[in-house]
Amino acid sequence: MTASARMWTRMVALGAAFVTLACDVSIAEEDELGDRYAAALEAQLPLLSDSASTAWLALLGHRITRVADDARRDWHWYLVDDSTVNAFAVPGGHVFIHRGLVERAGSLSEFAGVVGHEVAHVTLRHSVDQLRSRTKANVIVTVFCAVVNACGSPVAQVALDVGGKALFAKYSRDDESQADSAAVGYLVEAGIDPRGIPSFFARLEAERSTNPTALDAWFGSHPLETSRITRTRAVLGNFNDATLDGLTVEDPGFSAFQSAVKASNRAR
Ligand SMILES: [Zn+2]
Repeated sequence: MTASARMWTRMVALGAAFVTLACDVSIAEEDELGDRYAAALEAQLPLLSDSASTAWLALLGHRITRVADDARRDWHWYLVDDSTVNAFAVPGGHVFIHRGLVERAGSLSEFAGVVGHEVAHVTLRHSVDQLRSRTKANVIVTVFCAVVNACGSPVAQVALDVGGKALFAKYSRDDESQADSAAVGYLVEAGIDPRGIPSFFARLEAERSTNPTALDAWFGSHPLETSRITRTRAVLGNFNDATLDGLTVEDPGFSAFQSAVKASNRAR
């Protein structure tokens, strides 16, 4: 790793440590909470059954989480059979990615940028904080109380619904910005060119005017002002071109993965 990459990683880690201090849900509690939530989502969402594609996604995910996740969570990866563009991460390390997003990525670099961004929502504990801040929503409270035993009385019934998906897909602008910055550092450490992050944003923004329905969920949960692209490009300015030019933009594994995901749609 270069000196600039190391410095950047240290800065991101410091930020993460600060966020961790502000959150009193332990990693073990986060894991249990996330497992329950993800199991409910898994039962209700239409998941792609293509195990080779899911395995490739898990490999890419591991390449990123091994440099991103000091807490060494047990990560799980899911491909959702949905043609709209979206991705979201549940506490504990469960990442759900829509088929529509895979289909639109222009390169490994662009796709890995989204993976890095979702990983960051977990490692920076945005997803757990999201849960904490919604303690008035009864379904969420039921799960939260049952897991962290924070609400005084034992809860017998754990009710869940697919609405949880929306919960973990909606973050503040600050969270989005932090996740973008962290994703840049993660990708550099993982050896993948992070310049795909702003280029994918720009690609989605360009499609928005011609195909708003497919992009609604994405833009509803990932507010994308032009400033977000500008800010991410500014973060990229922390790295010299020679460093970035040496990183991977594309690889045959991604092309095969993308083709298989596209074919899984045509096969029906
Ligand atoms: Zn986000």
